[in-house]
Amino acid sequence: MPATARVVVVGAGIAGLAAAHRLTSCGADVDIVVLEGAPRIGGKLLVGEVAGVAVDTGAEVLLNRRPEAVALAQAAGLGGDVCHPAATSAAIWSRGGVRPMPPTVMGIPADLAALRRSGIVTPLAVDRAGSDADVQDGRAPQDDVSVADFVLRRLGVEILDRLVEPILGGVYAGHASRLSLYAAAPQIAALASRGGSLVAAARATLATSAATPVFAGIRGGVGRLPAAVASTSGSDVRVGAPVRELSRGDRFRLVVGPTRSQQVVTADAVVLATPAAPTARLLRDVCPVAAQELGGIEYASMAVVTLAVPVSALPPVSGSGFLVPAVTGRSVKGVTYSWRKWAWLAEGCDDVAVLRASIGRHREERVLQRDDTTLVDLARSDLAATIGLRGPALDSTVTRWGGALPQYQVGHLERVARIRSAVARVPRLEVCGAAYDGIGIAACVADGQRAADRLLAALRSRDTMAP
Ligand SMILES: Cc1cc2nc3c(=O)[nH]c(=O)nc-3n(C[C@H](O)[C@H](O)[C@H](O)COP(=O)(O)OP(=O)(O)OC[C@H]3O[C@@H](n4cnc5c(N)ncnc54)[C@H](O)[C@@H]3O)c2cc1C
Repeated sequence: MPATARVVVVGAGIAGLAAAHRLTSCGADVDIVVLEGAPRIGGKLLVGEVAGVAVDTGAEVLLNRRPEAVALAQAAGLGGDVCHPAATSAAIWSRGGVRPMPPTVMGIPADLAALRRSGIVTPLAVDRAGSDADVQDGRAPQDDVSVADFVLRRLGVEILDRLVEPILGGVYAGHASRLSLYAAAPQIAALASRGGSLVAAARATLATSAATPVFAGIRGGVGRLPAAVASTSGSDVRVGAPVRELSRGDRFRLVVGPTRSQQVVTADAVVLATPAAPTARLLRDVCPVAAQELGGIEYASMAVVTLAVPVSALPPVSGSGFLVPAVTGRSVKGVTYSWRKWAWLAEGCDDVAVLRASIGRHREERVLQRDDTTLVDLARSDLAATIGLRGPALDSTVTRWGGALPQYQVGHLERVARIRSAVARVPRLEVCGAAYDGIGIAACVADGQRAADRLLAALRSRDTMAP
């Protein structure tokens, strides 16, 4: 490794910060600069405020069943603040009511009797799901297909529209008809690979799943994580530093900053932890094949409307919230009862209920082109129609997430393999983040850490130092 190699990480979302944190925590002699284009770090993690109460207005929950995100929170000094949701049971707005979600694996029902009782789908649809069609087809398809193609054939349209699609809408803000079975719903593909009935495979999977809580949060909001990671990463984190160009000679050369006051930063190694479109722009000259592939990854935009309402304006509700299937025609695609889900949040809310409503699906940006007041009204009217919310909000905030969530469309895994193999041919260059192998925080942390590990290995190997 050269004496004090300089690594530049572009993008201070959670993937970039996890990469920076890993680079220093390995004890390597590296000087790390993180360049963030926005005026703040964190990307899709952000704590906002409504009615004087701190609340996540971006991502709000960590997957606890895989270790990376919670372990990073602990390493960043937030271990004492890691908590678990106080309310976990979810529901679906369907057929005129908010109905408790029966046990499922990514929407594939594990218990047809519970599904029948829930009333989410018609009795006919439950019979269809229990028919031979679920078994006849046997194993998982060899080639990638859309989630819709696969589920429709096996379990019928209602299971697809009222269970699987709302879950994909919640995670990806995407549509089952475009999302890849293997990339976006690997849990369903895993059920298929067991052979036989999907329902039986879902039942078997849930029966053997660990008793540990699926999700975790952080007191005060998951949005606290980026600052904690940045401050313990020992790196020089610069905000308001958009990287405009990347080129490569003996070293990497990055053109940084607003057009009127550009600077040049040089580096021995670079990690691009930016979404697909800016990564494609930066790779145009350095790795054109990857740039072209990245240009094909579409994103969904969305908005989070956070409302504070008097508890008395709500009828009694249970669970952590509900999802809304696209076929119902409502604008809101999911609602979180934040004050019920997070005990730390409830502590700050005397007689105030804080709810989050998500609006916006892939290729349906028109609904987001309305002003904030209209979006708040939309959320309120959907909440009135679904759970009977009465009267105006005490306070509200609208957080717009343009280019929020990458869409893992059919063929995504092959696309990512082509990107990774093209990038691997450029020594000391790495890419990581939500565009590739998982959009959740834990997956992004893992991807950032893997990028850092590969880079450290490359820096340690003198052979790779030749440009
Ligand atoms: C509303 C919402 C709710 C979500 N909820 C959850 C949840 O509860 N749990 C969960 O696990 N996941 C959730 N997700 C998904 C998850 O938060 C994201 O996929 C993940 O945080 C993405 O991290 P990232 O570092 O890859 O990218 P980002 O967070 O997008 O960070 C990329 C960073 O790069 C910067 N950047 C871009 N271009 C440049 C440039 N040219 N120069 C310098 N900087 C640049 C951006 O400003 C940004 O800060 C949610 C996402 C959204 C939008």
